[in-house]
Amino acid sequence: MPFIKEFADIFEKVKAGTRLSETDGIRLIKTNNIAELGAMADFVKRRLHGNKAHFTHSINVNHSNICVLSCKFCAFAKKKNEEGAYALSVDEIERRVKVAASHGVWEVHIVGGLDPELKLSYYEEMLRRIKKSCPGVLIQAFTAVELDFYARLEKISAEEVIDRLIAAGLGGVPGGGAEIFSERARALICAPKISATRWLDIHKMVHRAGLRSNATMLYGHVETPEERVDHMIRLRETQDETGGFLAFVPLAFQPDHNELSYLPRTSGITDIQVLATARLMIDNFPHIRQLWNYVDEKLIHVALEYGVDDLGGTNFDEIIAKAAGSASKGFTYDELVGLIRACHHEPVEVNSTYTAIQKDCLVAR
Ligand code: SF4
Repeated sequence: MPFIKEFADIFEKVKAGTRLSETDGIRLIKTNNIAELGAMADFVKRRLHGNKAHFTHSINVNHSNICVLSCKFCAFAKKKNEEGAYALSVDEIERRVKVAASHGVWEVHIVGGLDPELKLSYYEEMLRRIKKSCPGVLIQAFTAVELDFYARLEKISAEEVIDRLIAAGLGGVPGGGAEIFSERARALICAPKISATRWLDIHKMVHRAGLRSNATMLYGHVETPEERVDHMIRLRETQDETGGFLAFVPLAFQPDHNELSYLPRTSGITDIQVLATARLMIDNFPHIRQLWNYVDEKLIHVALEYGVDDLGGTNFDEIIAKAAGSASKGFTYDELVGLIRACHHEPVEVNSTYTAIQKDCLVAR
């Protein structure tokens, strides 16, 4: 049991399983006493997961970088006729996933830009072809922002979009596009994007349809510590309603090649304040995930002691973080396992629904 002095009142609540207040969250996220903050977050993490560190062997497919929006933090999106703009054919996507599955990858993560030329039938075909070629692979795809866009493009409800994609093979929804829920900060970095309320409503629809999803938070740009805590509380309240979220995934802002490049990278202290506070505040999310490609490698070494139980996927082919200047060199499967062991944790390979899989049925025979 850690000895906690400055935050003794909060630790009493943590031990008793009493929900922390907004005021508690703001005290935690602003503190430089990361020793006590980390000890409390680690206490909760070990109560839930012991010494386990989850990870997924996955491929990232970014099917199109053409996007009708221009979010200020985005270094990935292009306009249709801009140099470097692309949209992958379903054949090419199927080929990439088959190659990955033959190397033991068992999850495909698909997100892309809001490309007005790609119809819902393209996404349905993509999912069906992947499931036919690689039946054992779980497909986690399409952010709430993308699902909303498909609905508006097809002039149908988002519920219908979700149902049709599930029928085609969708197995889960990633947490992207949440950015920061604060209306003030959202207006400054991604004004035309769907509102926080709509993002949360789409996830409620996903949960009602029987799928699980994740939730991100983009931090380290124009938002305040109070707005980070507000974001966490809105997620906690939604989770109270549906219970459908699995992982909270904080994403440190990457400052290269975008309109916010004048901002500095987040400090290690900020990263830890966010991770550890999230573990304590979002008490109804089972998992806190630190994607290794969004922070310095040495931060990953300590994140597992500050509330994190999940390092995400091996994610080869990931280009969104790289486009924005992620300094991470990337990890192979063996390197990620080795890193977890070097941090004195037990590596546990899962898919994004945190279930085991029969690896011998990944690729259709
Ligand atoms: S963040 Fe997403 S929606 Fe915004 S410009 Fe980039 S690809 Fe488009």
